[in-house]
Amino acid sequence: MNVELVTIGNELLLGFTLDSNGAHLARELAAIGVSIVRRTSVGDEATAIAAVVREALDRTGAVITTGGLGPTSDDLTKPSVAAVFGRSMRLDEGILEALRQRWISRGWGTELPAANTQQAMIPDGASILVNRHGSAPGIWLEDERARWVAMLPGVPREMRGMFADELLPKLRERLGASATAVVVSRTVRTTGISESLLADTLKPVESALAGLSLAFLPGWAGVDLRLTSRGRSAGESAARLDSAAAVLRTAIGSSVYGAETDDLVRAVLERLRTAGMTLVVAESCTGGLLGSRITAIPGSSHFFLGGVIAYSNEVKATHLGVGDNTLIKHGAVSEATAREMASGVRARYRADLAVSITGVAGPDGGTPEKPVGTVCVAVDLRGVLTSARRQLIGDREEVRLRSTQWALDMVRQALDRDLSS
Ligand code: AMP
Ligand code: MG
Repeated sequence: MNVELVTIGNELLLGFTLDSNGAHLARELAAIGVSIVRRTSVGDEATAIAAVVREALDRTGAVITTGGLGPTSDDLTKPSVAAVFGRSMRLDEGILEALRQRWISRGWGTELPAANTQQAMIPDGASILVNRHGSAPGIWLEDERARWVAMLPGVPREMRGMFADELLPKLRERLGASATAVVVSRTVRTTGISESLLADTLKPVESALAGLSLAFLPGWAGVDLRLTSRGRSAGESAARLDSAAAVLRTAIGSSVYGAETDDLVRAVLERLRTAGMTLVVAESCTGGLLGSRITAIPGSSHFFLGGVIAYSNEVKATHLGVGDNTLIKHGAVSEATAREMASGVRARYRADLAVSITGVAGPDGGTPEKPVGTVCVAVDLRGVLTSARRQLIGDREEVRLRSTQWALDMVRQALDRDLSS
């Protein structure tokens, strides 16, 4: 099955919003054997929307749109597509009532704004794609030649929910047994190992990946390895990808920390659970980013106690007990300071394990001895201290992100050493 995608919104044309909806739909559809053969973005303008949808229907006969289903005057998708099908618009009392109930249940009052009425207008002969994640219902419109347009909301979270709940089952049903050739990917996530070393490491096992493509995708979190299978059934793809991913994991070893969209925090939390240990942090240049990443993972409260954001020397000294001598002799960005930060925060909160970060995130503050990107991390596991200094790359944001990833990796390694001893 071939489909065209039309993403609607001035913000897409102006570059304020990246078309993440298009990316999500492309991946999801490929996995069931549906190809997006063309993607078009168009502004919030009725004649332009109608023209683009008409062309796509004439070419491909199957169109998904996102955006323009909201309650405001720039939300024009439904009437524009209705015009393409020669249908008029009617008020759907059921939708209107559901919108009213939703309004009341959120405590916003009893009077539904008149603007919401627009969301209850649907083209004649349309069926509704229920929105369990927001207010705007989606629409499925089909003509007598079985040509169809599915209209989804623009808000990514609502779009993904409606696609999974409503459109995906509908498309699966249409495909029946004909969906034989699918495109599926698996990601193996690594950190702390360079792309070139990974390539060398994987040379000897390349033959085990025959028939699959392997992409190296470096970023601040590390290098992701993406295996992709094309032109096979879903079952055969899954079997091949699983065994290839296992080959990669074995060849690479401990630099692998997860799969798909796993966060390194998860790997750390699993080890803390196994070891029965608690964790605290002392953060300077990351200003709470590490704590934020840890607490973003549900269940972290069992192992993560908290920590100190010690940005200034004064806080490092008074709240973490970093010695004035250390700060004067070695400077705030030094392994010596990082070690005292880690020991200080561990003692203060009586945790099993502490990790500290201090560095120069830039763009200012670099010196010849400690250029921008110089970062020191220390780990204190029940009094056993490890620390290191590294030169990280990137702008301020990237140095901060890379710092948190490296600190988590240091914690993971310390726990692995402890668990294996
Ligand atoms: P709309 O349904 O047109 O009211 O869109 C509402 C919100 O969804 C806007 O804030 C957009 O930034 C966002 N949005 C719309 N289209 C897309 C898209 N293709 N990818 C990502 N976000 C989008
Ligand atoms: Mg819009």
